[in-house]
Amino acid sequence: MNYAVIKKNDIANGPGIRVSLFVSGCRHKCKNCFNSEAWDFNYGKEFTDDVIEEIITALKPDYVEGISLLGGEPFEPENQQGLIKLLETVRDKLPNKNVWCYTGFTFESDLLNGNQTVQKLLSLIDVLVDGKFIEELKDASLIFRGSSNQNIIDVPKSLESNCTVLLKGKWKRKMGELNIYDA
Ligand code: SF4
Repeated sequence: MNYAVIKKNDIANGPGIRVSLFVSGCRHKCKNCFNSEAWDFNYGKEFTDDVIEEIITALKPDYVEGISLLGGEPFEPENQQGLIKLLETVRDKLPNKNVWCYTGFTFESDLLNGNQTVQKLLSLIDVLVDGKFIEELKDASLIFRGSSNQNIIDVPKSLESNCTVLLKGKWKRKMGELNIYDA
């Protein structure tokens, strides 16, 4: 697996201050994709054990709420094993951090009854933002998603119910402040 970039202290891709990992490789080819250079699976650098250690170190401070996985496409088969290894390490060493993931796949139709590796990766994620970016449904007022077809999904509850369960609560956005989740 290759990755494009790691953003430390990211406030755009999930609640609070986060470490965001942008993996390389995506076959969805959404129109006006925000990150089309990362469609190439060879883009960026190799994802090694040293990179996992770098991410763990960046996640350690109390002010960092969790990790976000983006792309590229985290659920492309080429990226699944590397992300499982990363998230298993996060769960083991930093169990109080939450895990968000952005995918162009649709949770219920593409991932929910996927193979064992897909199930394993899903089991390590708290919140999944699913669906392709659709230019015609773009809405700048949305928080943490680009177009209105995308859902913010509570993954543990969805796996338990075997259907899409949206994350409950409201997002607040105030100028100059972090995005806050109000359950
Ligand atoms: S899923 Fe994401 S990275 Fe892939 S084409 Fe769509 S917007 Fe771009």
